[in-house]
Amino acid sequence: MQLSKRITGLTGGGSDGWDVYYRAKQMHRDGKDITHLTIGEHDIGTDRSILDAMHAAALAGHTGYAMFNGNTNLRERVAARVTERTGVRTTPDNVLITPGGQSGLFATHSATCDEGDKALFIDPFYATYPGTIRGVGAAPVAIQARADRLFQPDPADIAARADGAKSLLVNSPNNPTGVIYSRETMEGIARVCRDHALWLISDEVYDTQVWHGEHLSPRMLPGIEAQTLVIGSLSKSHAMTGSRLGWVIGPEEAIAHIGNLATHTTYGVPGFIQEAACFALDQGPAFEAAVAAPFRRRRDLVLQLVEGQNTVRAIPAEGAMYVMLDIRATGLSGEAFANRLLDAHHVAVMPGESFGTAAAGHVRVALTVADDRLAEAVGHILSLAASLAG
Ligand code: PMP
Repeated sequence: MQLSKRITGLTGGGSDGWDVYYRAKQMHRDGKDITHLTIGEHDIGTDRSILDAMHAAALAGHTGYAMFNGNTNLRERVAARVTERTGVRTTPDNVLITPGGQSGLFATHSATCDEGDKALFIDPFYATYPGTIRGVGAAPVAIQARADRLFQPDPADIAARADGAKSLLVNSPNNPTGVIYSRETMEGIARVCRDHALWLISDEVYDTQVWHGEHLSPRMLPGIEAQTLVIGSLSKSHAMTGSRLGWVIGPEEAIAHIGNLATHTTYGVPGFIQEAACFALDQGPAFEAAVAAPFRRRRDLVLQLVEGQNTVRAIPAEGAMYVMLDIRATGLSGEAFANRLLDAHHVAVMPGESFGTAAAGHVRVALTVADDRLAEAVGHILSLAASLAG
């Protein structure tokens, strides 16, 4: 039987640059001791206190259908958090609870793009972006944030592709680059969205992982709130990746319509997870800082190790749980380098090419293993690069 073009075309076909990742997993299954610096998942699990709250909530009866758009107590907490962090008045009617940020990415593109519409996003990009856009029937259009601009997108490049587009997706702090968009970049992005009547979809799932400078939610900028949809999540901030708890913030009308989508797709998030999310948010900023702390420490460690040589250059990560390394001096692509590294040293990193074209010749190091193991792995990266560069 024939399947839809939308579903069979979702991934775009061809190699997605994830071969190194799958190969590393296979080598691990074959008994090899692999250092995995690939995907963005904490090396700690969800805190015991959050799991206890989840367990207690389930025993207390939060196991039936929950509110499809999110329970009021959780939407109130998320609204208060957003108001406090951004200064933009946000009420529970501006909040939709979703099963993770990924579901928010799908929902916001569903809400803003019709079949065949152009949806803009920035390259390098989080792996699911183009597929998510194709998944709603829209056409993904990548705009390069160039390495020579330290991966800050140029608003002029966005403006040049904006005619006829419906939306622009941005992500700061950024996966994969670790870059935080400057105020100037964000203001330029907001200007282009206003000038071209684009929905601005801002993926802020790394907003508690800020090491340098400030994270500016573009919804704070003048005159843009009515066309901005923000995606948040507890995955990274509270080490709750498996709980699937995120949200979309936006104008009331948009949130109401996206809520209708939830009724017809996810039917909401389990009540015991929502209760655990309330508990998690009630732990406040000190808890979030403790979850983020190892990434900051390891980011400093990697930058310090890279400083000691001059073949590999680090993009100075300002946030998120990754450091991007420029290995172009080796003459290899990111993918070829990552494959050699895996074979020679059993260290798995993501090739820059798996995030689009702008980060070719780079590799992304996830800061997700213990410090000593990370230091050893980075040592292997640097020595391999030095030997290749001759
Ligand atoms: N956006 C970005 C940039 C991400 O890196 C991730 C997860 N790696 C997500 C969204 C989705 O996160 P989740 O669905 O777990 O909230």
